[in-house]
Amino acid sequence: MTPDSGAGDGSREPCRLIIAIDGPSAAGKSTISRLLARRLGLQFINTGAMYRAVAYKASRSGVDVFDTGSISRLADQSNIELKGDPDDLRIFCDGEDVTRALRSPEVSRLSSIVSAVPGVRRAMVAAQRKMGERGGVVLEGRDIGTQVFPQADYKFFLVADPEVRARRRWEEERTAGHELTFDQLRSEIDERDRRDETRGDSPLRRASDAILIDSSKLTIEEVVEQILERIRPRS
Ligand code: C5P
Repeated sequence: MTPDSGAGDGSREPCRLIIAIDGPSAAGKSTISRLLARRLGLQFINTGAMYRAVAYKASRSGVDVFDTGSISRLADQSNIELKGDPDDLRIFCDGEDVTRALRSPEVSRLSSIVSAVPGVRRAMVAAQRKMGERGGVVLEGRDIGTQVFPQADYKFFLVADPEVRARRRWEEERTAGHELTFDQLRSEIDERDRRDETRGDSPLRRASDAILIDSSKLTIEEVVEQILERIRPRS
């Protein structure tokens, strides 16, 4: 980042843009970021997948996710890489492709716990800045516009009614063969939102210069179009 590239000043070449997409769980951030990255020819960086990889590694190696020292060390010593196109993003942890394992309900729950640990956040934010510093990226997460890249060229904060988010996620989970009831999923999303919003380190909040989009009554394509309309005039 150059010091003079303030949020949304449109000074960066289109292929070097940094676009931040934040918001609560199941607001459609991944799907929308992937489509956006594809349409703009940018790299897609799914930061939630990185916290998921830490959680997965901890559960596999028997590290207690509530032991903040051990979990921070584990995050520091993990090499998490994102490779491939937006349409087929693969997540590697210490050289192993863990993409499939990261979507389980158990990993979702654990990732929300490990992401509240400051040592884990420090390691992940450092890795994310390194991946995105040259630009040409769409990053999605909870703290991209506030912490990871406060100087991002464009920031969007995606929200949707909790009932709508739970319904969409439930349909995805059923398709993926995960057996969760709607009520279980709804309370799991509420719990993750609560943890993300109340943690001491980098709580989920909208950056003051982020554009708010409520997708409750919009299709995915309509959200992508709204975002592109904001980006196109200056790119
Ligand atoms: O977005 P996703 O559900 O994959 O993220 C998994 C968990 O990682 C979230 O529940 C959230 O607690 C955490 N997270 C975070 N900061 C980010 C991305 C995700 O704290 N930038």
